[in-house]
Amino acid sequence: MKPASLKRQTSSGGVIFKKNNDEIEVAIVSVKGGRNWCLPKGLVDKGETPEVTAVREVREETGLSGRIIGKIGDITYWYYIKGENTKCRKTVHFYLMEYVSGDTSQHDFEVDNAFWFPFKTALKKISFKGDRTILEKAEAKLKEMNINK
Ligand code: ATP
Repeated sequence: MKPASLKRQTSSGGVIFKKNNDEIEVAIVSVKGGRNWCLPKGLVDKGETPEVTAVREVREETGLSGRIIGKIGDITYWYYIKGENTKCRKTVHFYLMEYVSGDTSQHDFEVDNAFWFPFKTALKKISFKGDRTILEKAEAKLKEMNINK
């Protein structure tokens, strides 16, 4: 087999949060038959800004509309695309978003499920270290802004 070629992808996503009584909850999605829990995100389309992508992907994957209140950070990981024998380096931009409207029952077919969880539960469930780092940064950012209760 010829050696793997390389490509790059850029995605964008968000940590959408809301207050539930005295607790802050965030929405995460499950994929791969419920085996993986991830932050909602997707590829930045041609002509789209990462902000627009983040709002669109969060709406599509969780059923929730949000308003961006700041940037959280970026993560980068590598994965292998079998059918293309290609190694892909993916960068994902993440934004902090305040919940505006919508319901997680309206998530699209690209994910198996979407749920609201308290920060601590979401941190335990999330599958990848990069997503966990973003959740931790989001929690710290909310504390800084005094939106932690
Ligand atoms: P997108 O949602 O950006 O359109 P996709 O669903 O096509 O992308 P990814 O979610 O990037 O693809 O998944 C590609 C591979 O990378 C899968 O094997 C997935 O399990 C893995 N993966 C997903 N998120 C991460 C992460 N944060 N860190 C490391 N690996 C990840």
